[in-house]
Amino acid sequence: MSVKVRFAPSPTGMLHVGNARTALIAWLFTRSQNGHFLLRIDDTDQERSKKEYEKAILSGLKWLGIDWDSKLYQHNRTQIYNKKIEQLKADGRLYPCYETPNELDLKRKSQLSRKLPPIYDRQSLNLTNEQIKSYEDEGRKAHWRFKMDHKPIEWNDLVRGDVKFNGADLSDPVLIREDGTPLYHICSVIDDIDYGITHVIRGEDHVSNTACHIQMFEALGSKPPKFAHLPLLSDKEGEKLSKRIGSLSLHDLQKDGLEPMSIVSLMARLGTSEPIEIFTDIKKVIESFDISTFSRGTPKFDAEELKRLNAKILHELDFSSIKHRLSSIGLSDIDEEFWLAVRPNIEKLSDIKDWWQVAKGPVNPVIKDKEFISQALELLPPTPWGENTWKEWTKAIREKTGRKGRDLFMPLRQALTGMDHGPELGILLLLIGEDKAKERLMNGNKHIE
Ligand code: GLU
Repeated sequence: MSVKVRFAPSPTGMLHVGNARTALIAWLFTRSQNGHFLLRIDDTDQERSKKEYEKAILSGLKWLGIDWDSKLYQHNRTQIYNKKIEQLKADGRLYPCYETPNELDLKRKSQLSRKLPPIYDRQSLNLTNEQIKSYEDEGRKAHWRFKMDHKPIEWNDLVRGDVKFNGADLSDPVLIREDGTPLYHICSVIDDIDYGITHVIRGEDHVSNTACHIQMFEALGSKPPKFAHLPLLSDKEGEKLSKRIGSLSLHDLQKDGLEPMSIVSLMARLGTSEPIEIFTDIKKVIESFDISTFSRGTPKFDAEELKRLNAKILHELDFSSIKHRLSSIGLSDIDEEFWLAVRPNIEKLSDIKDWWQVAKGPVNPVIKDKEFISQALELLPPTPWGENTWKEWTKAIREKTGRKGRDLFMPLRQALTGMDHGPELGILLLLIGEDKAKERLMNGNKHIE
């Protein structure tokens, strides 16, 4: 039987790096099994769902290299949900409740103060018809809860192994809001049934939901799918990843100029027993994917590690695979020779702009000590230049002028590039070439005259 997996983002915000990881793992699993990948847009919350978030999520997924075989919007399926909901009501699995949020809060607090677990006490289950009528007359509207069977719930989780719950330890989940709209749980279960989902891969924040969902699958006459709950990412210190820590939406990482394959390489291995590898081809990631290598331990996300991977990936890309991207950032003049010379020295693709600018110019040389620069000009080694030219040149300058360190390098940098910082001068000198280097150093001489 072929697998069918869904990724189900709610378009109520940007795709967080943690969700992107879930999407990637679900997708890698599907593709490694030649399965079907369904993108389900969980937009039943029409107030918070926004088209712009949906667009950003879709483009973020595409950017990572994730594609889908079909797409479905929950908001188009209201009638289908309602039909199943009526069935559950008729079966007595859904019951109306009239507590206000305040009343529920008070109940919870009182349970907690008595050291009891804050499980819904099912008071509404015992309402008489008169009581219900009097609530309705008061203008209260019912929300509906799913009546859990108080029995063991067990499944073998692809990541967590054997998981056991007891229905008695869980609150009956609310499935219908007061305004009559269905909540995520029931919509998700109905969709998973209707679309023949074989594997639900999602974050471990859904583990206790799964215990309830399993009973919903059964109440709707279906066998539950297999489940895999991935531990949520933490930051480097083991704290929960939160939005306050910088660039954590996929969109931000993209804006920061990171390579999608660096994110794919990291996320495909973070939290597994396998070492992190540099992948430049997503097919290779699919081939080596094995969900059983994912463990329950909390994976630590380190943005610095991602940057290092990013640099390593760039250092492996050949000119043919980068050419069109250089054009798209306005650098279509860069040739293979330039790319190969600069490639080991960039961390992000956009860094190459600095190299190109200082190498090809125009630059405004900054020359503060004209005497020194004119001495340096005279000492420029003869062409052809090679990888030792810089060393030879600076050695000769050191011997002649007695300068070293920053006193020697900074004036050369300023004269050759017009800037105080930038790419490594030794490589840069070769890219600038003899004519331009002389011209820039000579600018100082002109001033002397
Ligand atoms: N929309 C839900 C979420 O983003 C989907 C969870 C699931 O995969 O069932 O948390």
